[in-house]
Amino acid sequence: MDGQDAVPRRVLAIYAHPDDPDVSCGGTLASWAAAGSEVHVCLCCDGDKGSGDPDVDGADLVARRHREVDAAGRTLGVYRHYWLGYQDGELDATAELCRRLVSLVRKVQPEAVLAPDPTAVFFGSNYVNHKDHRAVGWAVLDAVAPAAANPHYFPGTGPPCQVRTLYLSGTMEPDLWVDITACIDTKAAALACHASQIGEGGEWLRDVVRQRSEEAGQLAGVRYAEAFRRVVLG
Ligand SMILES: [Zn+2]
Repeated sequence: MDGQDAVPRRVLAIYAHPDDPDVSCGGTLASWAAAGSEVHVCLCCDGDKGSGDPDVDGADLVARRHREVDAAGRTLGVYRHYWLGYQDGELDATAELCRRLVSLVRKVQPEAVLAPDPTAVFFGSNYVNHKDHRAVGWAVLDAVAPAAANPHYFPGTGPPCQVRTLYLSGTMEPDLWVDITACIDTKAAALACHASQIGEGGEWLRDVVRQRSEEAGQLAGVRYAEAFRRVVLG
């Protein structure tokens, strides 16, 4: 497929909410993990507001969502998760978040970083991209270009790291598609682990994911794909 990248040896996916990476790039992570990539995933928020039930206990929900992430990670082949512990809706692209992300990038030393495209505000005419998604996207851009690569930014947070490639998901300007045909069932199985978000079963979500992956696949000339805006940094 045109534009298909080589599999990175080590990748770091940085997202806001516990189910975001699986929805946004679960097929890519599974595909790369199966090909030998070491896949690290950072979740900035705990998912404490991921329920419409006013009586749900926030701490119980957070504990449940951690377990769901563990199960989904095992399904995808995630090497390690990192939780930053912010509350849902309270993520801002602050210098503190940037420093924590720089510290993590320097610790993991990934070749590739995946994150939400912060420039996507509206999807179609009826959906506003969540503020936390935009905030983490901006913070990731600041953290990898140039902060993590320059020793004068946030000294004392580990050796500098030049991330080679950024893959931005949820983008209005895709220019790279990863073929996830072989991993579409793995992605669906990972999503099914997030039962607190989709209810038991989650057939509808699997249908939506399949449909979106099929649409991206049509643009890429394969059956199923995930779309990204790719930024080559080094
Ligand atoms: Zn989210």
